[in-house]
Amino acid sequence: MTTPHPVILGLDVGGSAVKAGLVAADGEILVPHLRSARRPTTFDELVGIVRELADEMCTQRGAKRPSDLATGVGLGVPGLLDDDHGGVERSPNLPWLDGRPLRAALAEVLGVDPTHVHVENDANSAALGESWLGAGAERDDLFLLTLGTGIGGGVVLGNRLWRGRGMAGEIGHTKIHDTGPVCGCGRVGCLETFASASAAERLALAAGLPSASPGDLELLAERARAASGPERDLLEAIGEDLGRGVGAAINLFDLRTYLFGGGFAAALDVLLPGVRRGIEAASYGGRTAEIELLPAVLGPAAGWIGAARAAMLETP
Ligand SMILES: [Zn+2]
Repeated sequence: MTTPHPVILGLDVGGSAVKAGLVAADGEILVPHLRSARRPTTFDELVGIVRELADEMCTQRGAKRPSDLATGVGLGVPGLLDDDHGGVERSPNLPWLDGRPLRAALAEVLGVDPTHVHVENDANSAALGESWLGAGAERDDLFLLTLGTGIGGGVVLGNRLWRGRGMAGEIGHTKIHDTGPVCGCGRVGCLETFASASAAERLALAAGLPSASPGDLELLAERARAASGPERDLLEAIGEDLGRGVGAAINLFDLRTYLFGGGFAAALDVLLPGVRRGIEAASYGGRTAEIELLPAVLGPAAGWIGAARAAMLETP
């Protein structure tokens, strides 16, 4: 595919850091994965961090200014996007982004044309990144689920994002139960309240598992892997709920490939038996044996790589 941008600067805004890198249109990574030392807590801080990361790239590449490095910029952010204004309509996790003019501010601080700056949802970015250079590189269509604080989702059809009106793929808010804890979206029964990393921590603590202090999901998975017992039972039950969400996606899109990223996806091997059961329970058609359930491979770089790819495909 031809692109007017031979090199793109990719950015990914998360709750704990901003990640960035520089990638060429042919997929060559020119500056791999930078991570800001501090986390942004205001809009102005975010813009400052972006400038610092761009300056670091300039140093690495021997460039004078960011606009010498790249003509296009892609940025992944959590939340519902406002495509008209190039910003975020509502970000439950980073509310200081709401309504702020991201595209214009990035164009100004990086010295690039605003029409060459693309703002994309973070889970969509990760899905497109995996589709381009990661676990989905050999597939044209895929659905990515990111298992973190919540559950994000992104749909890639024919190697392009299916964005809908900006919020397609929000599988984390698929209702899978009638009761449960209140979700960040204000409703009850959402997939992410049963199968995200945060949900797994909550459920492990409630089950009295000594291995499951918050942030200790690795140990939980390790024990589940080693022997049958309450840890394995819990992860299979969580997997089954996750499979109910995947089953809903199967019913809608009938895709073959489902990728799992985010921190909790490190437990995918022990979640999988449950996921398969959940899919059987929730999906129509009985062709689930052909379904691929694969770990994402780009890790925390998926977001900025995919945001850069989105800028390549979506900006003039
Ligand atoms: Zn929800």
